[in-house]
Amino acid sequence: MLIYCKIKRIFYEKVYLDNAATTVCSHDVLNEMLPAFNAVFGNPSSLHSFGREASNLVDRARDKVAHAINAKSEEIYFTAGGSEANNWAIKGLAHANMAKGKHIITTKIEHDSVLESCQALEHEGFTVTYVGVDETGLVSLADILHNIRKDTILISVMTVNNEVGTIQNIKAIAKTAHENGILFHTDAVAALGSVRLDVEDMEIDAMSMSAHKIYGPKGCGALYLKNGVKCQDLIDGGNQERKKRGGTHNVPAIVGFGRAIEIATKEIIVNQQKIKKIRDYFVKELTQKINYTKINGHAFQKVQGIVNIGFEMINNEALVTMLDLSGVAVSVGSACTSGVAKKSHVLTAMNVPDEYLKGSIRFSFGKHISKEDIDYAIEVICQSVAKLRAISPITKTGRAK
Ligand SMILES: *Cc1c(COP(=O)(O)O)cnc(C)c1O
Repeated sequence: MLIYCKIKRIFYEKVYLDNAATTVCSHDVLNEMLPAFNAVFGNPSSLHSFGREASNLVDRARDKVAHAINAKSEEIYFTAGGSEANNWAIKGLAHANMAKGKHIITTKIEHDSVLESCQALEHEGFTVTYVGVDETGLVSLADILHNIRKDTILISVMTVNNEVGTIQNIKAIAKTAHENGILFHTDAVAALGSVRLDVEDMEIDAMSMSAHKIYGPKGCGALYLKNGVKCQDLIDGGNQERKKRGGTHNVPAIVGFGRAIEIATKEIIVNQQKIKKIRDYFVKELTQKINYTKINGHAFQKVQGIVNIGFEMINNEALVTMLDLSGVAVSVGSACTSGVAKKSHVLTAMNVPDEYLKGSIRFSFGKHISKEDIDYAIEVICQSVAKLRAISPITKTGRAK
């Protein structure tokens, strides 16, 4: 898109290819949220009409979230986002079911909010098995089965990986968990809006969601918790969220989340088709114009919006900075690990060769992307890669273009 700079009095290009980190809050969502900031300002817990009006908005949003994933409204608990939902699910399910055992199975490619919740449990005396993935980022069912023990109480596998886009075989894994009397949780934050989610059909006991990855507001999400599944309360002191997560509701954000998930669900197919076309063009052009690249992830069992590409002889942080100077926003992987000089735990688990791992960039496409934006991004990426390779000490091997 063209941005006008008043000081320099010029237009310049800016292309946002980091939609897996966050998305813009759409006009439609924002318009729905605005009245909840002032016109309907009541506390949803108040008994009077002001409160009832606000509580109606929360209820309606809850219905929308439930409807989008084929759950019942009373199975939706609003949280302050995906990280909170993951923390709550992992620790809450573990604590509420520890009488049955203290073993948990998850994967090496989960979001940090799952991995570090598991580590916190390990400090408390739980045992956690972190299963690996193949080079496409897929978890093997056999691997999970092999690691099930008598005291396993919970299996948590993300639906879609946020760094490479690989979609896991959730239904089969959940079925295996249940055949062994084990609860199943999935972090569906990166799947929402890209993959059809049906908690009934997929046999899910607990599922984490977030609003800001689907054109909704930041700081709002939800945990789906199947009726009858025991989970420790998150915040004491309030009747909100069926007494499990106290605290006055963030009404505007909840309203926004409801609208965002409603739109995202309706638009899944259209958006995925549109993004696939642009993504395919982007990958084809880039791999034709730039030598020594590697696409990290699964060839087809993946969401359309995420492409992770390794550029040999490139330092990914240098490339991110250089692209940013030309107005192209991308990331080295998950937003939470960027800024910290640390190798991606996802690509490491996928056994991506070191020369590609160090030069890996995640491009994530949103529904507003245009062909012009992509053409500009391709041009800038080609120039930046060429510049960096020209000064890279590794080019001396003669492998550079
Ligand atoms: C973004 C993300 C989260 C965290 O969600 P927040 O709402 O930002 O806390 C968790 N899991 C995955 C897969 C994500 O992509």
